[in-house]
Amino acid sequence: MQIYAKLFVHCIKKIARLCSYQSKKTLSYGLYAVFMKPLITPEQADALLAAKGQAMQKTILMPFNKALNAVLAETVFSDRAYPPYSRATMDGIAFKQSDRQMGDTFLPLKHTQAAGQARTSLQAGTCTRIYTGAVLPEGADVVLRQEDVRFETQNGASYAYFSVPTESGQNIHPQGSDLAAGQVVLEAGTVLRAKELAVLATFGYADVLVYKKPKVLVFSLGDELVHPSQKNILSHQIRLSNAYSVGNLLKEWGLEADIHEVGIADNLEAAQTFFMQASINYDLLISTGGVSVGDTDHVLAACKYLNATPLFHGISQRPGKPLLFAATPKVCIFGLPGNPVSAYVCTLRYVLPFLRHCANQASNPPDLISLGSKVYFKPELTYFLPVKVARKVVEPLPTNTSGDLFSLTKAYGVVELPSHLSTFEAGSSWPVWKFSPD
Ligand code: AMP
Ligand code: MG
Repeated sequence: MQIYAKLFVHCIKKIARLCSYQSKKTLSYGLYAVFMKPLITPEQADALLAAKGQAMQKTILMPFNKALNAVLAETVFSDRAYPPYSRATMDGIAFKQSDRQMGDTFLPLKHTQAAGQARTSLQAGTCTRIYTGAVLPEGADVVLRQEDVRFETQNGASYAYFSVPTESGQNIHPQGSDLAAGQVVLEAGTVLRAKELAVLATFGYADVLVYKKPKVLVFSLGDELVHPSQKNILSHQIRLSNAYSVGNLLKEWGLEADIHEVGIADNLEAAQTFFMQASINYDLLISTGGVSVGDTDHVLAACKYLNATPLFHGISQRPGKPLLFAATPKVCIFGLPGNPVSAYVCTLRYVLPFLRHCANQASNPPDLISLGSKVYFKPELTYFLPVKVARKVVEPLPTNTSGDLFSLTKAYGVVELPSHLSTFEAGSSWPVWKFSPD
């Protein structure tokens, strides 16, 4: 009897906590969470995240050299023809083809033309010493490489002697032969890698309009968590690893994230205070742990404290079922489960695509790869199974639990197996989400 009474009080408390939302919408969400377990599918989560990510898009003007991996939000044009002048592609001499005799030629050497020097004029019947990248002197139409020239001095005057055949245009990169002025050189939507930044530099785009990457903070909740450097760790303590795995996974994919290296205590006030402060300085908060519905799980309540509306809490998948996504008009929150594999898989499968939407970056769909051996998984949940690649097929990697971070170090990625099947035959192909971009 006492047990039933305790259970009743526990349920009432839980309902009261989950139902303490002010708005009707979130009130019904709280009831849902208790009674109906509103699990959505991965595809439904994708659609919600895509819509929210697109709504979050903002553009920003930034110095081009700070824009590595950003997505271009304007069209980039050439402000001048390229090359801007006809240039020598070899070290040697420049002369006019019609000034040379057939066979042995002996031309007075009058000037020098090096890169960075304004264009000189060739005197009729002479040649100019020229270096790679230099402007072709006015009147010259041949550059002959110095290996084919013998330089001589007679009575203090310099001459160039050569006998090899030459032709007009030789070793010259003509003005405008790469690009005309006013041409489109980069389309809006291009991801700015090193070579695109060089194009921006070439055409004088000191500042460039790009999609703003959300400012991201990754942090972890858990009384058991201690900093990796802590000496004399107690047997009930765990070294915090999730914030590093999540934050660095984002970095591996060219995104930015700040990592909060101290665990947040499993109490309501600590969670609320931390979420509130973080929401002032960041656009996206990514928490790990404390997202289930136990009494020590305070992420949902902290979201409520920020007046954030949960878009979903619970996905029909394993691992990562308790995943939460909530948003205010200003800040979005991913509440990742604390289990290291769950946190990692959810980052790869949901956080990364969401951030790509925020930055208007094309999606990076998983590859379809066939299974090397049969997989059986009974629960009606989408199953994310770590795999390694061997001879162009993927082989499941045994993992112990969703806390088994160590097996992930041997994995190439995870295969996503849909919930409507329980047997996945060898040879059948399924989406594989690779962990690293290379
Ligand atoms: P939770 O989601 O808070 O119930 O945590 C699930 C499991 O993941 C627990 O065994 C935690 O100790 C572990 N865990 C939670 N957060 C972290 C973290 N930041 N680093 C490593 N393990 C964690
Ligand atoms: Mg916990």
